[in-house]
Amino acid sequence: EERLISGQIHEEDQQELRLRPENLSQYIGQQRLKDNLSVFLQAAKGRGEPVDHILFSGPPGLGKTTIAHIIANEMGVNIRSTSGPVIEKSADLAAILTNLQSGDVLFIDEIHRLNTSVEEILYPAMEDFQLDIIIGQGPAARSIKIDLPPFTLIGATTRAGLLSSPLRDRFGVHSRLEFYEVDDLLAIITRSASILGIAIEGDGARELARRSRGTPRIANRLLRRVRDFAQIKGHGSIDHAIARYALEQLEVDEAGLDYLDRKVLLAIIEKFSGGPVGLDTLAACTAEERGTLEDVCEPYLIQQGLLQRTPRGRIITENGYRHFGLNSPRAAEP
Ligand code: ADP
Repeated sequence: EERLISGQIHEEDQQELRLRPENLSQYIGQQRLKDNLSVFLQAAKGRGEPVDHILFSGPPGLGKTTIAHIIANEMGVNIRSTSGPVIEKSADLAAILTNLQSGDVLFIDEIHRLNTSVEEILYPAMEDFQLDIIIGQGPAARSIKIDLPPFTLIGATTRAGLLSSPLRDRFGVHSRLEFYEVDDLLAIITRSASILGIAIEGDGARELARRSRGTPRIANRLLRRVRDFAQIKGHGSIDHAIARYALEQLEVDEAGLDYLDRKVLLAIIEKFSGGPVGLDTLAACTAEERGTLEDVCEPYLIQQGLLQRTPRGRIITENGYRHFGLNSPRAAEP
């Protein structure tokens, strides 16, 4: 079964590239990030240099890829996009680097998944705009250096903690994207609805915004799904009632949690008396991948105060119990 609220990019999302903001002023929310970026961009432009290398981290769908494109756009340069798992050999990365033009942005998604030999090519490239490559083998092997055009590396990762420290240290800027406020999501949904020609009422939009898990990609996805319900089961326009009805059909609950979120929380409550339980055990008993739980599921549950990460494992909070109309057994303790 496909998860509605997942970090994966669906085919449909690809088609919705026109929802992607193209410049900083269209990028909604993340005010501090935008303020800082606009200083960095203007300063780099003033010096006639590329922007410093930037690392964006945060859960999927918060706008890391989007902001990378915006940076290239605002700097008036090209962007080359790739991702950690796609670059298998150092020669692959060398080919990409030597094809860059001066000032270009190289965007590497899931940069924590680069393998070590590839990563080592990146160090001198980031630091000195140089490629160090070894030609030949054994005693005949020699190292040659190739100058690269100055460029900006933008890395994106769902888990900054998995980056090796030499790689992390080579980024001049490290910025963490936060979950969006309801008002920001409301603005995103309203903007998207107008681009897609979807009729939506204020309270319908607010209901979607409230239940979008703080994530623009999910907001856009819910908007498209709920539009179908409005068309078939309603009067075309997304009002409050149809939004509520559709979200219930889609099994997105009042707090924006989907069935996987609930499955995880309930497993901890029912099988582990509220925890603590280790992530691997949790992954096994929910039949989900550890990575999905850690990158996609947990961050929101933690941010919402439903789940807590402790040194001994994950535990449900009192709010977590309350979400299911239950009382925390811990609350009864003296
Ligand atoms: P990530 O790279 O973090 O997984 P994306 O950059 O692909 O996320 O963003 C997912 C979608 O959400 C984008 O296609 C865009 O339409 C929308 N989006 C993300 N951030 C914003 C924002 N700040 N304002 C408006 N739309 C946004």
